[in-house]
Order: sequence, then structure tokens, then C-alpha cells
Amino acid sequence: MKKNLISTIAVDGPAASGKSTLGEHLAKTFNYTYLDTGVMYRAVTLAALNQSIDFDDEDRVSEIAESMELDVRRPSINDGRSNDIILDGQDVTWAIRSAEVERNVSKVSAYQRVRTAMTEQQRRIAKRGRIVMVGRDIGTVVLPEAEIKLYLEASVEERAHRRYLELINRGKAVTFEEILSDMVRRDQFDSTRAIAPLRPAEDAIIINSDHMNADQVYEYSCKIISAHCSN
Ligand code: C5P
Repeated sequence: MKKNLISTIAVDGPAASGKSTLGEHLAKTFNYTYLDTGVMYRAVTLAALNQSIDFDDEDRVSEIAESMELDVRRPSINDGRSNDIILDGQDVTWAIRSAEVERNVSKVSAYQRVRTAMTEQQRRIAKRGRIVMVGRDIGTVVLPEAEIKLYLEASVEERAHRRYLELINRGKAVTFEEILSDMVRRDQFDSTRAIAPLRPAEDAIIINSDHMNADQVYEYSCKIISAHCSN
């Protein structure tokens, strides 16, 4: 990265669109910090589950988001994780990936106070510079000034297929049909909510990865970044 130095790269898109894989790879290449904001909403959901809070109780769920202590650290165990996710002192790296969290996270992340608390933390982290931030609303709401905005998309069948293989490889007993229907429901919820819905920013570059593998998406993104830097 030479002439036009980049402080922030925003990567948005629906579930299993390849955002995290791309974001992590770009961050490694350019030695940037990597932040997957999905883990923050998942952590709020897990904390509410652990405290048996009713997900319809917006005030109590919001209080959790405003008070929980979340830490995202370098991985301490070599078990396929990208980071250690520490919630109130506990390692919840895999717990936030559970089906129960997945079923409830969209409801939690649609609450205004939850979003405000998470967005503030995300902006604070981004202020340090040199960051690749991945999510649903990074280019539109969290960091609208990001120099590079990528928006990944792929058909829901393709994304469900990728997620299915990922879970099967991790030894989970799941069916393709349940993954597909859950993904359709979550996409619908995330893209139609009133606050910070999932959608590409006007100045985002949209990458459809239906016929691309992860390496091809990465190489294409690197070209976009290089072109920006040499302009
Ligand atoms: O990306 P991931 O699937 O881990 O995100 C989990 C959920 O968190 C999404 O379905 C969405 O409801 C929420 N989310 C969000 N805004 C973000 C990142 C995730 O609302 N920036």
C-alpha cells in the first residue's frame, strides 16, 4: 500500500458470504487489525441466554450490551479459531457459534441501544487505524468514511451449502435444509430491520462470489485495494 494509504477497510455482506475469510486474509497480508463485529452481537446474545433473559425484553438485553466486558484476543489455542473471544472472563469462542445463539442473534441486534453500544466500541477500535472491519453495517453506518468498502454476496443456496460443509467438518449433526431455512430467516430479519439494515453502501464495490472460491475473492479484492492505492 503506497500512495493512498488506507486506514480502514470495511467488508459487509449476509451470513456465510465469505466476509470473515476475506477480512482475515486481507488483515494478515497488510498487517492490519481484524475485527469481526458479528462476534460482538453473538456475545450479547450468549450473555442474555446465560442469564435466562427473555429476548423480547429489550431493556434487559440492552443493559447486557451496555455492561458486558468483551475482549477479542489473539488465538491461544490452535483449534481453528481466528481469535479468542472472552466474555466476562470466560472463553466463549465456540459457544457464540451455537444454534441457539444463531436463532436469536438477529432479534438482539435489531435493538437500538444494543447497536449504539456496539457501534461506539467499534468506532473506538477503528480510531487506532489500520483495521479491517467485517459486519453488516460497517460501510453504511459504523465507518461511512472507510476508504475501501467491499460488499460480498452469493445466492442463499450457495451460502447455506458453504455453512453446511463448515459445520459438518466441525463434527456437527446438521441438515442442509435446516441451515438453509435458518439463513433465509436471518437474512430477511437483518435486511429489513429499521436500524442499520444489511445493505451495500452506495460507494461499496459489490463482489458476487457464486462462481468464485475464497482465493479468487481475495485476489480480486487485492486488485481493488492496489488500484485505490496507486490512484
Ligand atoms: O456475521 P455473523 O453471522 O457472525 O453475525 C451474526 C449476526 O449479528 C447477524 O445475523 C446480524 O444479526 C448481527 N450483526 C449485525 N451487525 C453487524 C454484524 C453482525 O447486526 N455489523
